[in-house]
Amino acid sequence: TSSIQTQWTMAMERSYIMIKPDGVQRGLVGEIISRFEKRGYKLAAMKLKQADEDLLKEHYRDLASKPFFPKLMGYMLSGPVVCMCWEGKDVVAQGRKMLGATNPLESAPGTIRGDFSLDVGRNICHGSDSVDSGKRESELWFSPAEIVDNESALKDWIYE
Ligand code: UDP
Ligand code: MG
Repeated sequence: TSSIQTQWTMAMERSYIMIKPDGVQRGLVGEIISRFEKRGYKLAAMKLKQADEDLLKEHYRDLASKPFFPKLMGYMLSGPVVCMCWEGKDVVAQGRKMLGATNPLESAPGTIRGDFSLDVGRNICHGSDSVDSGKRESELWFSPAEIVDNESALKDWIYE
């Protein structure tokens, strides 16, 4: 890659987006992937995984003292999750908007949570809340070799 291409790639954010066990069981995997694809974001990594307690404790380390933490762990351990790393312009903030509010009853229609969920403990998806956590979470759930740095053929049709 040329230095200009490298700079372009480096400028791009990454967000860790995860479809939680309820989203997987309810058959919402394709729908959620589709929304990120259609928006113009590029998939950099993806896998189906049964998470374990250690991984989830690290992922949700800031929430360990919250009263809902044990229930959250049970929820997240209840089945496989789809782990994804999405890349592109402002993907962290835009991804949070696409997901909707933490409480689905406060999520606008048109958002993923607002369209497909009702309870905070069954809100079907996760999205990184900052550029730093996008990097941290992507590197927690994926090994370096699992994150692919290919150039999208649509790049010039999505970015001016
Ligand atoms: N959660 C919950 N009860 C609460 C707050 C959060 O069960 O009162 C769960 C919910 O599934 C949420 C996750 O814990 O998505 C992580 O909480 P956070 O505050 O990070 O919300 P998010 O970033 O997912 O919107
Ligand atoms: Mg969060």
